[in-house]
Amino acid sequence: MKTTKPHVALLASPGMGHVIPVLELGKRLVVYHEFQVTIFVVATDAATVESQLRNLPNPNLFNVVSLPPVDISGVVDPAASIVTKIIVMMRESLPALRSAISAMSLRPTALIVDLFGSEAMVIADELKMLKYVFIASNAWFLSATTYFPTIDKQLEEEHINQQKPLMIPGCKPVPFEDTLEAFLDPKDQVYVEYLRLGLEIPKADGVLINTWEDLETATLAAMRDTTSLGRVTKVPVYPIGPLVRQVTPPALEDSVLGWLDKQPTESVIYVSFGSGGTLSSKQMIELAWGLEQSQQRFVWVVRPPMDNDASGTFFEVGNGSDGTPNYLPDGFLTRNSEKGLVVQKWAPQAELLAHPSMGGFLSHCGWNSTMESILNGVPMIAWPLYAEQKMNATMLTEELGVAVRSKELPTTERIVEREEIETMVRRIIVDKEGHGMRSRVKKLKHSAEKATSIVGSSYDSLSKVAKDCEIGLL
Ligand code: UDP
Repeated sequence: MKTTKPHVALLASPGMGHVIPVLELGKRLVVYHEFQVTIFVVATDAATVESQLRNLPNPNLFNVVSLPPVDISGVVDPAASIVTKIIVMMRESLPALRSAISAMSLRPTALIVDLFGSEAMVIADELKMLKYVFIASNAWFLSATTYFPTIDKQLEEEHINQQKPLMIPGCKPVPFEDTLEAFLDPKDQVYVEYLRLGLEIPKADGVLINTWEDLETATLAAMRDTTSLGRVTKVPVYPIGPLVRQVTPPALEDSVLGWLDKQPTESVIYVSFGSGGTLSSKQMIELAWGLEQSQQRFVWVVRPPMDNDASGTFFEVGNGSDGTPNYLPDGFLTRNSEKGLVVQKWAPQAELLAHPSMGGFLSHCGWNSTMESILNGVPMIAWPLYAEQKMNATMLTEELGVAVRSKELPTTERIVEREEIETMVRRIIVDKEGHGMRSRVKKLKHSAEKATSIVGSSYDSLSKVAKDCEIGLL
């Protein structure tokens, strides 16, 4: 009789966009495959993870280990990109991770590392464990990253200098403006780190991606086609998504959900830029007027604009008299009290998007937000900010046809004017175009539900990984 459960260790990079899907992956290994799971997170994320595990049916099978904080100030340029800083932080955490795994009485048979922690695969080699990379994003992103070393030499001439679209097998051409920022400057450390990632990922025993077969069929097929010239991904690819936080009824009555209950079906646009995204002050003002002028219902999760300085000051437009934050136009809350809600800082997004009143999502196109939108059959206004979000926006508009976006990419210098915002909101909520997108996104919702059901492709992919993890390295 089997007395111990198979044990797998997972490593999450910092930030909710990584932690949430890693946690969901851990939950599925416990709930569906009866694994014991240890999740390594950076210290700042530990409390969130633990709070999300509280109500699980079998919490004793979860072990959350917080890696001690590391000081990266001496090893990374203060002006380096956030991705570079995350990668360096994960690198500096390797000794602590090695000690923690070595000290475990039940040695895990496999280590699943989130992309930016992929250097930890060396620990799996040392300790004779299987090693997997988990991509919290999609197959386009994985394909671009693993194809990067192949096109490295021609990138500067053709893409960066001539601004030709990026051609990735199995993906629609990615316009220059939508390329991963990491690909744009060969002298930047993040470019070098991505080249390394592109070469390192295929050394894993498998790559798990937060997508599903029917969403990215062509991209997955191209990645598996080892006959294509220049392909480097001979590694098995397992689409196991969408891994989205299960919606739970809030413990207390939620005022936003209460308000949504009173709105007509599919009438509200939800506006949010993820766990950390913000806009410039000028863009915030245009967005406020655009929402107001659209005369549609909205829920807007606001954060102070990005051009506030260390002392917390920014371009003030309002006097905050009616509770309107002073970076929004005067009287914004009063004028929109019937039609709109402003939530400061954090909203129960998964729950809100699941509400029948939700009709659209103006989103920064983070992959978790995108999945949550699709799983709730909500079409989008794509407003990408950074990372792979611009590529996601290309996919949503050009390939899947479930989003609209502004004519020009909003940047710190180029703002999207209120009239265009008003038009985009109306295109999604009111116009026939929006109805078409809603019916397409609902088809995707059903295909996602099928993929994660126990007869679906994502369930099957994870079962294959689980079977290998049960055995471990022979
Ligand atoms: N999120 C939330 N409330 C907020 C903002 C974000 O619950 O006010 C959640 C959101 O539902 C998603 C995650 O945080 O699951 C953000 O991940 P995503 O990949 O969309 O963007 P990132 O934060 O990584 O830019």
